[in-house]
Amino acid sequence: MAAALLARLARAATLDRPETAAPANTQHVGFHTGADGWLYCDGSKIDDIRQQVNSSPFYLYSKSKLQQNYAAYAEALHDIPAIIGYAIKANNNLHILKELSHSGSGAVLVSGNELQLAMAAGFDASRTVFNGNGKLPWELQLAVKHRVMINVDSEFDLKNISEAARAVGTPARVLIRINPDIDPEVHPYVSTGLAGSKFGIRNSHLQWFLDTIKADDMVQLVGVHSHLGSTITKVSLFKDAATKMVEYIKEIRSQGFDDFEFLNLGGGLGIDYYHRGDKIPSPRDLVEQIRDTIMDLGLTLILEPGRSLVANTGALVNTVVGTKTNGTKNFAVVDGSMSALIRPSLYDAYQHIERTAPGNGPAEEYDVVGPVCESADFLGKARTFERPAAGEGLVVHDAGAYCMAMASTYNLQMRPAEYWVDEAGKLQQIRRGETLDDHLALFN
Ligand SMILES: *Cc1c(COP(=O)(O)O)cnc(C)c1O
Repeated sequence: MAAALLARLARAATLDRPETAAPANTQHVGFHTGADGWLYCDGSKIDDIRQQVNSSPFYLYSKSKLQQNYAAYAEALHDIPAIIGYAIKANNNLHILKELSHSGSGAVLVSGNELQLAMAAGFDASRTVFNGNGKLPWELQLAVKHRVMINVDSEFDLKNISEAARAVGTPARVLIRINPDIDPEVHPYVSTGLAGSKFGIRNSHLQWFLDTIKADDMVQLVGVHSHLGSTITKVSLFKDAATKMVEYIKEIRSQGFDDFEFLNLGGGLGIDYYHRGDKIPSPRDLVEQIRDTIMDLGLTLILEPGRSLVANTGALVNTVVGTKTNGTKNFAVVDGSMSALIRPSLYDAYQHIERTAPGNGPAEEYDVVGPVCESADFLGKARTFERPAAGEGLVVHDAGAYCMAMASTYNLQMRPAEYWVDEAGKLQQIRRGETLDDHLALFN
């Protein structure tokens, strides 16, 4: 069933492409306030888009911004042997995936289903990495079959990988996931690359992994992997990680392993969530930290960006239901909620919120909340803007990563539709909104 659907999507889920690839208007790519005070996505006024879209809330993306973000990585890496592996878990919209695969991106996967979707979206399997601490036998067999690179996460994982390779009859290409264990006292953003992480091998056991792989002709060691964490805005962390990884690489190479080629430094580059003019490092800033290491050792670099490719390409566009006060606090109640966008509730994350129309009257402080029956249901706290009337638009910015991908149907708030403004300025629906019928169809 899924196979047939995936094959159909691989063929059919294509949108009209603009006749001539219009040059992206570099001055107005992405979300910005126009000189007239209205909020725009590329050249389109968001309130005009709200008129055209007959559902709310909805996700809106700038395809040109996506292209610009990918180009920033591609340019930073143009003279280095490298694979840009888009971390699909950040946003798995099929059209976004197709756009990135079309641009030459590889893919980083965390499930067998993501692997199947990536293949349907046209990603080159040889530029694809399968990560995870709990990969299942069927997922590993699929990865081996497609010659996807697989990260070895533990002793049992290596055993399962070897068995999958035997079952398929093809050697598995593996990287060993090492935790560089960079001191969080010094680098507070590190959260998945510490010795105590649930991911990766125990570094002191590296020799056991090397011996086991060497003795197994169905497992081929092609590189090492590390992933420090996410929302990292201090790129010197990547240099520190590379320096640690080089020690391991030298040790591994001294023991043979002729197929060894890749240093995978993971993803995790942060973005400008606060919109207050902070200096956020670019892909180029990141790459400059590790260029010499890669060139000196004759390695191929793998980066696994998710958030930094897609987060600022999207926004959740909400409609105000009404405003109220509880005496000490004002609330702007919107139709979007933690069901559509859970990062504020889950991580207390800040995502910038703005009116779509210029306001008038005094600016006031509001908690922006949804209709879901949870006090944790908020999109932003203590945000300052002019009182919005019912029916006006409020946009949650930087919602292209880990927002729609984490959406649920809690309270039967159905997942929103997704649209993008394409490079010719045309509004296109890239996923329809879920309906109650979709939900009811799951019951026998
Ligand atoms: C989530 C994840 C990424 C992507 O992280 P971003 O912060 O979105 O760039 C990359 N690699 C691995 C192993 C991950 O788990």
